[in-house]
Amino acid sequence: MVRVEVHLGAGLPAFNLVGLPEAVVRESKERVRAAILTAGYDFPQRRITVNLSPADLPKEGGRFDLPIAVGILAADHKILPEALKCREFYGELSLGGALRETRKLLPALIAGAKSRSEMILPAANALEASLVSGAKLRLANHLAEVVAALKGKRSLDALTSAAAHSQHFQSPCRSMPDLVDVRGQYAGKRALEIAAAGEHGLLLIGPPGAGKTLLAQRLPGLLPSLTEPEALEVASLESAAGRRPSIGGRRPFRSPPHTASVAALIGGGALRPGELSLAHLGVLFLDELPEFPRNALEALREPLESGAVVIARLKRTCEFPARFQLVAAMNPCPCGYAGDSRGRCHCTAEQIVRYRNRISGPLIDRIDIHVELMALPVEHLLGEAREEAESSAAVARRVAAARELQLKRQGKLNARLAPAEVARRCALARESRALLGTAIARLGLSARAYHRVLKVARTCADLRGDADIRTMDVAEAVKLRALDRPAG
Ligand SMILES: [Zn+2]
Repeated sequence: MVRVEVHLGAGLPAFNLVGLPEAVVRESKERVRAAILTAGYDFPQRRITVNLSPADLPKEGGRFDLPIAVGILAADHKILPEALKCREFYGELSLGGALRETRKLLPALIAGAKSRSEMILPAANALEASLVSGAKLRLANHLAEVVAALKGKRSLDALTSAAAHSQHFQSPCRSMPDLVDVRGQYAGKRALEIAAAGEHGLLLIGPPGAGKTLLAQRLPGLLPSLTEPEALEVASLESAAGRRPSIGGRRPFRSPPHTASVAALIGGGALRPGELSLAHLGVLFLDELPEFPRNALEALREPLESGAVVIARLKRTCEFPARFQLVAAMNPCPCGYAGDSRGRCHCTAEQIVRYRNRISGPLIDRIDIHVELMALPVEHLLGEAREEAESSAAVARRVAAARELQLKRQGKLNARLAPAEVARRCALARESRALLGTAIARLGLSARAYHRVLKVARTCADLRGDADIRTMDVAEAVKLRALDRPAG
């Protein structure tokens, strides 16, 4: 909550804004002055002091223009001060007095809705404002309309959030990438389905052109749509990052490049959320994982555990949610063609080990599924005999059923099971236990892989709707630990 106080005093005409305003707010002075004049009012020739409190809260964005303008007009007796009671004002003004679409508004509206005041905001922000339920919202296009309404000469359009709201959620999502377009790559598609069903982290290993990015982009389409409160959270984070909030139940998909700074990933700057938070409740895709600097990969570990990032700046700390599903991709070796049948790879075993070691053990350890993709033969892409590829919608139905089973059984998805819960929820029959023991010994699976294998096996069983984990589930989960096997 920011309180805007206006004082008109004696002395030489001046216009001061205090309360640590940042550059954008300082520009607000010029906009407010011009808007008041062009809207047909005198700009008071007095010593004007505007205080934005609390002073130690960093402020940015143009949303303070309207409250400052209204405050000056009230101090100058153009509007009765009583008219401002139980009302909150938001919005950036143009020099002509028009109310413009204002960035970073949504989190402020959500907070404002709790005050039960009537909120007056730019009509251009109506769509995102309609996400805020239970708020008394009034829309205006111009400063003059607001002033007329405060004088009781007209009324402002009310935004009935319920109607606008259901519209967003009933309209089908805009076209999303569909699995039906991906030929072959059965192992990759299956791994994607399992990852979607249990919210498991996924690492795709394969040569260039194997379709790693194609598969990753299709994960959001396999996940259930966001609920309304979740969509509001996602939209708020986008708004806080200065982006136009997306409306609807679509899950975010973010793929920052490996050149992105740690601040861009984690957030920072003017306390704004980064890529990890923009991927909240959606998918964070890191292509060419070993190319990311080590400090960037280290920065992922904490949010992967806690589902949030904490940013500290100028004695203030700010926590942004960041519960994303991680999908990463990498080549099998530095040149990308290890295992290629045409023998294009000349990387030594030592080079391959060094390349894989660039990703820290603790990070890999947090990724439940590692799957190897083969290069697709050209005839597979262009040949006549195209298989009947399954659509994302069909896979999404199985995923939804498997997720429901998990939530009913344990109140969370399998990837989120704590070590103590794994023993209880992922109990194995004797045969399966024997198989897992053999795999650990013969394939050299690390001990830390043990819990990951159990959780993934649990998800495989859930996808079949089976209460028991069977040997085939364990066998499949073991196969999905490619990086735990010695390289080469
Ligand atoms: Zn190579």
